[in-house]
Amino acid sequence: MAVDVAIIGAGLGGLVTGAKLAKEGKKVLLIEKHSVPGGFATCFTQENFTIDVGLHSMDGLYERDPKIEIFEDLDVYFNVEFEKITTGYYRFTNGRIDFTIPDRREDAIRVLIEQFPEERKGIIKFFNEIEKVTTHTHKIPRNKAMQALIGPLVPILYSSIPKWGGKTAGDMLDKYFKNEDLKLALIGTIQYYADDPYKLSAVIFSIALSSHFKGGNHYIKGGSMKLSNHLVNFIKDKGGIVLTNHKATKLLFDEGKVCGVEYVPTTDVTSNPIKVFTKIVVANASIPHVVSDLIPAEEGKKLRDKVVNMKIGHSTLNLYFGFNTLLSELGHKDYTTVVNDESVFKLENVFPNNYGDYRKRAYLFVDFGQVDSGMAPSGKSTGTISMIDNIEDWFYLEDEEYKKRKSEIVAIFIERLNKLIPNIKNHIEYVSVATPKTKMRYTHNPRGTSIGFAQTISQAGMRRIKSKSPIPNLYFASAWTFPGGGFSSTIWSGWQCAIDLLNKLK
Ligand SMILES: Cc1cc2nc3c(=O)[nH]c(=O)nc-3n(C[C@H](O)[C@H](O)[C@H](O)COP(=O)(O)OP(=O)(O)OC[C@H]3O[C@@H](n4cnc5c(N)ncnc54)[C@H](O)[C@@H]3O)c2cc1C
Repeated sequence: MAVDVAIIGAGLGGLVTGAKLAKEGKKVLLIEKHSVPGGFATCFTQENFTIDVGLHSMDGLYERDPKIEIFEDLDVYFNVEFEKITTGYYRFTNGRIDFTIPDRREDAIRVLIEQFPEERKGIIKFFNEIEKVTTHTHKIPRNKAMQALIGPLVPILYSSIPKWGGKTAGDMLDKYFKNEDLKLALIGTIQYYADDPYKLSAVIFSIALSSHFKGGNHYIKGGSMKLSNHLVNFIKDKGGIVLTNHKATKLLFDEGKVCGVEYVPTTDVTSNPIKVFTKIVVANASIPHVVSDLIPAEEGKKLRDKVVNMKIGHSTLNLYFGFNTLLSELGHKDYTTVVNDESVFKLENVFPNNYGDYRKRAYLFVDFGQVDSGMAPSGKSTGTISMIDNIEDWFYLEDEEYKKRKSEIVAIFIERLNKLIPNIKNHIEYVSVATPKTKMRYTHNPRGTSIGFAQTISQAGMRRIKSKSPIPNLYFASAWTFPGGGFSSTIWSGWQCAIDLLNKLK
């Protein structure tokens, strides 16, 4: 088989790279070990409920969001429906305060001032500051944005570096505010980026918040797999090949340069490997997996040296629910609710709480029934609980112990959810648990992370590994590279990789 580019992994980064390259006439082969594409951007169906493995909400889609250009170019809008979440950004509750932060900047400022009038000045300054981080995008003419898709982020990151490049989200919140509950509320969705406010890069925190307050949040009708499936169909329509149930086992080298991939069907991993020779290989699979499992020791040295001391991002534990009712029938009004325990008084408590007792651990609940999600039969709904978790607490457990621990967690969180939404426990038709170990098994991402390398000061934004690797003809497109984890970032990463390759393959 002759192809221009082989891509290992059909997560969002790999799919976007493959789609753009295929559109521009390159012959693409995508190799995915799972039976379905998407990586974390996929769903499964149980008892008539469609459960989204990953996506809670996608930020952005405001006028100058670079995703808009990408989606237009890849025909996404013709095939995928985005449901605007109208219930606000998220509700934050911790026993002392309980309110919903709206998703429009002006409304958010107003509500925060109502809640914390003594912090008025700081709130306005804080919102101005995070806004500055993205204002540079407005200077780029829209019709030129195509070439500069990643360009908007470059000035953002550079301009922010003198002031915030060496600071954490915790430093930033401490600078503007005295009230600890206000800081806790603003860092409420930290699990999307990091596990510790004093490690999370202030630049990443600002960009993410700003994007949410500009474009609000959206869910993909029918689940994130609709986007992944569309990209697969797009690649195939343009002459590309997408092989699910096939696992890449080795990169092939010729005089120190990557020249192909070996892969096997996952139905028979002992069969003779199939070889494909290519000009370029793109790894959407995690960089640590590539380094430790796919590259021979000598050839991989440069890359290994680069990543060996890098810190891997955190993982999450998820409970997936199917309910026999819409939760609005039980009086529930919010799409996303962040629940902190009363024992978390200040930012310093956040990190230990994220790995502490499950009865007090911070969690986030998403009620997909608050939008027309298309995930459940009429009158029913789905939801998910998400919290930061540690793979070490699961990895070494025997089967029985593993199952027992999962059941204990289900029991704890049904009680906690029932406190949040009284009587919900009588409406649960389906519940399952995905641990960090489950996530690692499905994606080969070390520690089960979905955000790649931790987004700390030294590993965030421009300091991340770029699409071009130190090994000739090997490229990356994933959460592990610039700009980072999450849907928006991996979509940008996939796009940037394709643009780099189109320049190289001209
Ligand atoms: C519970 C949860 C909730 C989330 N919620 C949100 C959200 O609300 N908003 C948001 O923006 N982001 C969210 N994310 C994060 C987002 O889903 C991820 O950051 C993003 O999807 C990662 O994409 P990726 O391209 O890096 O690849 P991944 O999704 O990590 O996929 C990598 C792919 O490579 C394949 N692979 C690995 N090794 C091989 C091999 N040897 N051969 C062949 N294939 C291989 C894997 O099977 C996998 O399909 C969430 C994640 C999780 C887990």
